[in-house]
Amino acid sequence: MGQTAKPTRHNRTITVDFHDETTYLALVGNPKAFVEFVLAFLLSLGFQLLHKASCSEGSRLTRHSHYARICLGGLTIWRIQCTACKAVFTVLPHFVLRYRKMRPDVARDALLATHGGLSLEWCAVICHISPMALYRLICALGHTSLVTVLTRCGLPLPTYILADEKHSRCLTERVYLPTIVRGRVLWHLGYSESKSTAAFTESYGEFQRAALEHEPSYQVRGALTDGFDSTVSSIRTLFPRVRLGYCLRHALNKLPDKLIGVSTSVRKGLRSKFHALLHRCRQRKSLRVVALGQHLRHFADRITATVGEAHGARVRQWFQAKKAGWYTVLADPQMPAMSTVLDQAHNALDRKLFAMKGFHHPGGSQAAFLTGLAHLYNLIPYQCRALNAGQCGVEVEGGRVPTSDWMLNLQILTSGGYQCAPEPPHH
Ligand SMILES: [Zn+2]
Repeated sequence: MGQTAKPTRHNRTITVDFHDETTYLALVGNPKAFVEFVLAFLLSLGFQLLHKASCSEGSRLTRHSHYARICLGGLTIWRIQCTACKAVFTVLPHFVLRYRKMRPDVARDALLATHGGLSLEWCAVICHISPMALYRLICALGHTSLVTVLTRCGLPLPTYILADEKHSRCLTERVYLPTIVRGRVLWHLGYSESKSTAAFTESYGEFQRAALEHEPSYQVRGALTDGFDSTVSSIRTLFPRVRLGYCLRHALNKLPDKLIGVSTSVRKGLRSKFHALLHRCRQRKSLRVVALGQHLRHFADRITATVGEAHGARVRQWFQAKKAGWYTVLADPQMPAMSTVLDQAHNALDRKLFAMKGFHHPGGSQAAFLTGLAHLYNLIPYQCRALNAGQCGVEVEGGRVPTSDWMLNLQILTSGGYQCAPEPPHH
């Protein structure tokens, strides 16, 4: 600790599901059977071990490995080493959490309660652990990136995204959470103390770097934003060929703001007419930019006729600034149109970040904490009365999770020692 010159070591821990403790205890006495079990488990996941870059042996670990045992609170833990590249893998049985005395079943309840909205303090009280231990556990999960976990689940990198920033508070400062979403999955949940384009480019750039590492030709084709300047500019900087759309629900909610001084009932009436207009446009298969322009012009004329020229002019000006972004959404069926799901997620995450302020400190691990929360958001199944009951966000989006147990999935997918196997060769 405290040595600056210490080289950073790769975390090559892997969590392996041994079904129950008895099986594990039987296997630790028999290295050959142990390694065979681990290899069979790897095969069932479709993952490979993260060897060093120089290693050409790859999956031929069986014949080239040797073993070392260490003790963890009386429990024997095996380490397997690749004799070719000398990479050492620590095999953690499913009933142990890395570096933690907390058992996974205790962590499971506490994480579920956190995800459900209970404060960290209360989660800790009902689960008999310290709030700090729970905070650190979430941060530890957050050290594995969302891109790594999601691609391990077989999800393709998103070509159409929703990029939005949540304005939040941490300690006494205003902070921003630049976020990338595709459907029900969070691909990036950043943390920034500034709302400048540079700060947002840095944050969204983390996602881009992780994605390019996974797929060097990765490009975003379309992005939906609410039109916030820093978000728009940073996405354009990172993905120069992106088509940028503006959120339609945001547009609907903004319309009444353009009609200040007009009675509520009239504003509501105009909002629902605007809603119908956008809805009609969205249903048409071949919408031309001219057609949208015409609809908007008629609508502005109607506003002039109903509530006066000043309002009509203001709305017309607003349409002029935004219509290209709306057209992008309406013209491409693959573009996300609304950010409702994200708004709900943001509000929930925001409450947690705020509730956690006692644990944060300047230069703390807010980013890791948020990424940890995002993993929970992606991997905890929806509750029984929800639309996609029993499935987690990853599954709803077409991804695969390793087991039917979300806590075990979280342990396996955030293990540092796994890497995605390349596409299997066709024989
Ligand atoms: Zn190796």
